[in-house]
Amino acid sequence: MVAKRPIYLDHQATTPVDSEVVTAMLPYFTEHPGNPSSSHLFGWEAEAAVKQARRMLADVIRATPEEIIFTSGATEANNLAIKGIAEAYLQKGRHIVTVQTEHNAVLEPCRYLETLGFEVTYLPVQDQGLIDLNRLEQTLRSDTVLVSVMAANNEIGVLQPLAEIGALCQRHQVLFHTDAAQAIGKIPLDVEAMQIDLLSITAHKLYGPKGIGALYLRRGTRMASQLHGGGQERSLRSGTLATPLIVGLGKAVELAMHHQETEGHRLAQLRDDLWHQLQKLEGIYLNGHPTQHLPGCLNISVVGVDGTRLLRELQPNLAVSSGSACASAKPTPSHVLTALGRDPVLARASLRFGMGRFNTATDINQAASHVIAAVQTLRQPHRAIKL
Ligand SMILES: *Cc1c(COP(=O)(O)O)cnc(C)c1O
Repeated sequence: MVAKRPIYLDHQATTPVDSEVVTAMLPYFTEHPGNPSSSHLFGWEAEAAVKQARRMLADVIRATPEEIIFTSGATEANNLAIKGIAEAYLQKGRHIVTVQTEHNAVLEPCRYLETLGFEVTYLPVQDQGLIDLNRLEQTLRSDTVLVSVMAANNEIGVLQPLAEIGALCQRHQVLFHTDAAQAIGKIPLDVEAMQIDLLSITAHKLYGPKGIGALYLRRGTRMASQLHGGGQERSLRSGTLATPLIVGLGKAVELAMHHQETEGHRLAQLRDDLWHQLQKLEGIYLNGHPTQHLPGCLNISVVGVDGTRLLRELQPNLAVSSGSACASAKPTPSHVLTALGRDPVLARASLRFGMGRFNTATDINQAASHVIAAVQTLRQPHRAIKL
């Protein structure tokens, strides 16, 4: 007998690959194995497939194909964006602005640059996760080269006001980078209307394969390569192009655009249903913004339970995330929840539900029952944890 598997509600961590994406990729492992750099039929076939995917991605964010650089994912795209701009604009200055709630793939390159003598401002956020635009404006200086603000937060789903940030950066002649790993395919992105100069994406949050992503780099923007070699991607990112993965990324983006509106409404409904059902519990809080959020993402804190134990209680039935890194004996609360001003105990007792394309209303009803039952069990007096 096959053991019953938990309901997958962790789509902010990664998503399954859509079977249509797998189908599109398969021939590029076998029948069409060429290197896009080669000058023969096999090379041309691979080159044509890469070209098509590049155009698809460019169209979706209103860029041109020449402005797309394929990378191994959003971590690499963020590293290239931040280090590549810092190095290329040294004469202008050494100041970078980012936000405390960014993904580590933005924060860590910034910290690395600090060790090289760059200066980084880590903007705080308001209690619902949004940045304060006035505060952002006040941090900008004549030696500021880059502002990096994520489109959608991976823990709490909060959507930052990209168009307003873009306009502000344009006024101050500062480059604007956004990590859109969670946003692409879920909310409209338009690098022209939003005045975005650099934008990072990854396929595996979008029902595409792991190990492929891209950086959009506005035409005319200088950039220092971080990976030197065969000169692919206009010498900005050397390495043989991963044709099957790129084809998968293109197909994933195409499907996401096709589904974006209906799927957005459906996931928003599932998320609202879950939040509504969980409110049967006393002492639960929403982490994040009540309206400015990704459709399928819900993050809550539960009073009076230990986060690690709650997750363990749920594990047989639900695959969700908690707001703490549990690798160590004493889990550290998430830097995102701490930045919202959540008490560390409440920040540790948090759950992130990430709903996706293959979840149903039944999944959500079951998830709500499991969470309610688990919290009630843990809150029984003999098991109570002192707050
Ligand atoms: C997942 C994620 C990343 C990292 O992407 P990889 O492709 O796994 O390197 C970066 N930023 C955000 C916001 C993410 O959600």
